[in-house]
Amino acid sequence: MTAASVAVVGAGVMGASAAYHLAVRGARDVVLLDRSEGPGLGSTGAATGGFRAQFDTAIHVRLSLMAREKLRGFEEEVGADPGYAPAGYLWLAESEAERDALARAHRIQQAEGLAEAALVGPDEIGRLSPAVRLDGVIGGAFCPTDGFIRPRKVLEGYLAAAERLGVRVDWGVEVVGLTRGKDGRITDVQTSRGRIPAGAVVNAAGAWAAPVAAYAGVALAVVPLRRQVAATTVSDLLPEATPMTIFTSDGFHFRVRDGRVLLLLPTPGVAGRPWDATVDPAWVETVARIARERVPALRRASIDLPACWAGLYEMTPDKHAILGAAPTCPNLYLINGSSGHGVMHAPALGQLLAEIVIDGAASSLDVSALRPSRFEEGAPNPLSGVL
Ligand SMILES: Cc1cc2nc3c(=O)[nH]c(=O)nc-3n(C[C@H](O)[C@H](O)[C@H](O)COP(=O)(O)OP(=O)(O)OC[C@H]3O[C@@H](n4cnc5c(N)ncnc54)[C@H](O)[C@@H]3O)c2cc1C
Repeated sequence: MTAASVAVVGAGVMGASAAYHLAVRGARDVVLLDRSEGPGLGSTGAATGGFRAQFDTAIHVRLSLMAREKLRGFEEEVGADPGYAPAGYLWLAESEAERDALARAHRIQQAEGLAEAALVGPDEIGRLSPAVRLDGVIGGAFCPTDGFIRPRKVLEGYLAAAERLGVRVDWGVEVVGLTRGKDGRITDVQTSRGRIPAGAVVNAAGAWAAPVAAYAGVALAVVPLRRQVAATTVSDLLPEATPMTIFTSDGFHFRVRDGRVLLLLPTPGVAGRPWDATVDPAWVETVARIARERVPALRRASIDLPACWAGLYEMTPDKHAILGAAPTCPNLYLINGSSGHGVMHAPALGQLLAEIVIDGAASSLDVSALRPSRFEEGAPNPLSGVL
């Protein structure tokens, strides 16, 4: 196989965005490799398409604001409609502690310029998401420019634009090894179809990023976590413009997509089987029961079991992405571990990664909070456990 200046491993939304932005910056002979037979078969195709800037660390808010600008200009820049629909994200608090956590996050958002995010009371919540039963809800937070995007459109947009700029996208090619030279740099990518000499490697392998990094002897703190989605049959029980509505207490949330109500409730994953991404019918029953209690209109909804699905989040210990060159392998670049926010942040992270590869450092944003060495330094980002 022909040599690559940069070999990107994984053609999900991260790899596609990274490859596109590398090509925009003038990189030639960029190769994007994926073991799948086509796009969207990793986590990107499983994403529900939430977009938000309501986070509780400055770096997450900044990434979202940068991504939001790029999504607004996506059609012009990339030539595809990413489906950005600002229906809002509405967080609900049922205790003082939850309300305080939302207020703390709100202060961070305001400091970062997310002026339209607001703390709201029960009356406003009833107006914004009228289907929700308000018993026990004492307050919340809402941002009208949060909302939805179409993960596959973002992915396919970046793939097509990257190919137009000369990136070679190879499906059905599994990376099975990374060879390092005496100076510690990767010289070759070993694949199921042969060896590719490479000047640099970008690890964009999503939930599978740790095994890929391990091929170069690099330990990467990314683990898979199953995330399940229950889908109702198509109905007009709730309007499509319903905001993403989230109960802060247990993370139960719902939204409407193409007439189906999507129900989510975080769970710890399957003990002993971290890569298991099957739907647990008992979980579907549980989330449907919670939905009926909290959203009375959904008592008339039917779950469409074959339409329910699961996929893998790519978790880091502090739920923030890892971005930059691996400390122990200078030409292995990491764009990993977005911990469930990867589609929304990919437009920003791909550009920032291209800046790091080509210029040696990111210039659009200070990304030191995402440096790969932070865990070894004992300096992870703060974890509120709420947003
Ligand atoms: C149910 C669910 C809902 C979600 N909802 C949202 C949401 O609302 N908003 C949001 O922003 N994010 C959401 N996410 C998270 C989001 O999907 C991920 O953060 C994002 O898709 C990660 O992109 P990626 O390109 O890193 O990974 P992927 O899309 O998984 O791409 C990685 C690719 O690497 C390939 N690969 C792996 N190993 C190898 C190898 N050895 N050789 C070659 N190829 C390899 C895989 O085939 C895969 O295609 C959700 C995830 C799930 C599961």
